[in-house]
Amino acid sequence: MNTENSRRCDHCNNTLQIEGYVFRGGEAYACSDKCRDHVCADKYNTTWDEEYDDDGDSYYTEWEDSDLCHSLLEK
Ligand SMILES: [Zn+2]
Repeated sequence: MNTENSRRCDHCNNTLQIEGYVFRGGEAYACSDKCRDHVCADKYNTTWDEEYDDDGDSYYTEWEDSDLCHSLLEK
């Protein structure tokens, strides 16, 4: 495990390894729809619809281990 790269859900503190929600370019993360809504409400006092539309820095994404990614892409 590389803890330097770990991302944690701002609501439940779960480690995000594969996919999750990013807020405002990486200010905060959320691991699920429910946590996403909590982070919106608790941290930004908004809804996901507002976050997602406003500036484009909040989105759902998938992260891949860079080494794994390379080995998969290089056939
Ligand atoms: Zn969570």
